[in-house]
Amino acid sequence: MIISTKKGTPQAELDRIIDSFEKQGLSVTLIRGTDYNVFGLVGDTTKIAEKDVLANPWVENVTRVSAPYKRANRLFHPEDTVVDAGGVKIGGKSPVAVIAGPCSVEGEEHMIRMARLVKAGGATLMRGGAYKPRTSPYSFQGLGTEGILDMVKAKEATGLPIVSELMDEAHIDEFEEYVDVVQIGARNMQNFQLLKAVGKMTKPVLLKRGLANTIEEWIMSAEYIMAGGNENVILCERGIRTFERATRNTLDLSAVPVVKEKTHLPIVVDPSHATGDYKYIQSMAVAAVAAGADGLEIEVHDNPQCAWSDGAQCLKPDKFAETIALCRKVAAAIGREM
Ligand code: PEP
Ligand code: MN
Repeated sequence: MIISTKKGTPQAELDRIIDSFEKQGLSVTLIRGTDYNVFGLVGDTTKIAEKDVLANPWVENVTRVSAPYKRANRLFHPEDTVVDAGGVKIGGKSPVAVIAGPCSVEGEEHMIRMARLVKAGGATLMRGGAYKPRTSPYSFQGLGTEGILDMVKAKEATGLPIVSELMDEAHIDEFEEYVDVVQIGARNMQNFQLLKAVGKMTKPVLLKRGLANTIEEWIMSAEYIMAGGNENVILCERGIRTFERATRNTLDLSAVPVVKEKTHLPIVVDPSHATGDYKYIQSMAVAAVAAGADGLEIEVHDNPQCAWSDGAQCLKPDKFAETIALCRKVAAAIGREM
């Protein structure tokens, strides 16, 4: 339930309203705008009658929210959320963020080289997987802690914040210490135990859309993280599985405006995992920026044929730089910095 109060409602009255709902066992968030105050009530609001709330002369409007997500709901938070990702702002009117790097971390020297190359090409954050969710148990599973520490060295060399995937609660302390943005992969989007655990973390979360999940299910997963107390969630569209086999997945670019309408959270697009083919990444990256994405996540490798994972969907550094230059022109055309 959303309650808005009239302009100029005294603070004592706002406090009294909060108190009365909290006494009924509801959690209340007060969102202040320049011209409005909005209360978001989360919990069982079925017993509250609209007419009783409207009896308060300071109350302007009462809306029942039919969507199952509350904290992620744009109605609860009309302004865009801007997430601080290791010093880089993502969302709202912030410049379009660029997360780039290899699929897997492949050692310290390589990670430092890749971080320097993607930074030169326009990346504002670096990515690299140290714990890899592979379809086959016989495929490379990631360097683990060593890979995370390689990224720390690359951050020391370039200043780029670290984005890396967390697969297991057991590694939370390590991620809390070293990683700037905790990626939750598509395959774990509905691992609710893991979502609850990252909801207790202080680091922002990049939540990828599941391979076969609806936008509503995806936002509900963001709600899990936010319900735990971590409001810094960035959504990432990375393609969904459809009947089409010409691309690895089907990039659902309409998710960008839909997510922006329904939620206040930033949304990033990953054209690498969406297409699975380096040839299509540039056009889909440009299209994502045109659609209003708050960021891109792109896999980049200096020698894709020899990449330890996902080589087919990695851009070479020069093509990556060319892609970002093109994206910047599109961003400028729609009045967005990049
Ligand atoms: C990745 O980012 O390397 C990855 C495995 O992505 P996804 O979870 O989207 O498949
Ligand atoms: Mn990958």
